[in-house]
Amino acid sequence: SGRFVASVQVVSLTRGRVLILAEDRTAQIRLDDVRRDFIANVSHELKTPVGAIALLAETITDAADDPEAVRTFAESMGRESRRLSGLVQDIIDLSRLQDADVQLEARSVLVDDIVDEAVERAGVEARARDIAIRAGRGGDLAVHGDPALLVTALRNLLDNALRYSEPGTRIAVAVRHGEDDLVEIAVVDQGIGIDPTNLPRVFERFYRVDPARSRQTGGTGLGLSIVKHVAADHGGEVTVWSTPGRGSTFTLRIPAARPTDPSSGEDAPAS
Ligand code: ADP
Repeated sequence: SGRFVASVQVVSLTRGRVLILAEDRTAQIRLDDVRRDFIANVSHELKTPVGAIALLAETITDAADDPEAVRTFAESMGRESRRLSGLVQDIIDLSRLQDADVQLEARSVLVDDIVDEAVERAGVEARARDIAIRAGRGGDLAVHGDPALLVTALRNLLDNALRYSEPGTRIAVAVRHGEDDLVEIAVVDQGIGIDPTNLPRVFERFYRVDPARSRQTGGTGLGLSIVKHVAADHGGEVTVWSTPGRGSTFTLRIPAARPTDPSSGEDAPAS
């Protein structure tokens, strides 16, 4: 915004001279703004499910003699609670990723292990939505990374692919050794796609193309910013291609592990 902020301190010295200490605080103020925005957004996002749960509890009490109504409201309560815990988990993940002091637990990991774990965790949702996930094989392709974080990132991409696709469609996970010694893991869906005007913004925290659809399907608006942080922390990146009405492809690029990576598992030669 071109705003410049400085803190200025004037110190009187002897013989009428003064010393002026000026410190550029622009970056710090901007960071504070970002933090304040984030907290405001988080509070707003938390209030919605919490309010709904409180209201549903009240309604259930009133409807105590109607078992059918009690069931419906209890199901809604379950859904809102799951949304709330998803949101809390995303906030925890994101704040951990933003903490500069937290070190990555990077080692050599087989891409197939990451893909298998993420696909397995998305399995329940995929079956419930009648969407088939087909995972390509990477063989001995390995990345240098933190397995838990990489599974989280891929899981977020799969959750989105499921969330924004219709039943009966398919999702593919493609793996290959790409350029610049980066391993590419692409999640390809046949879903609703993203309009070019919204495309550059989807990695922003709490940005949603269609807030109603995101909320209804359990989205938190934080998934892609988590993926972006995981990629950046690994020295990689995440990119997106999309055609509205036809589908989207999100590609995660993570540095490949060297065959003689000293941090690779038990097979590594002792150094
Ligand atoms: P959300 O929890 O809302 O899915 P994300 O940060 O994961 O939040 O994604 C941001 C927005 O990007 C979503 O609200 C949705 O509009 C859009 N989006 C993400 N992934 C896809 C996808 N695979 N297909 C279509 N739209 C998507």
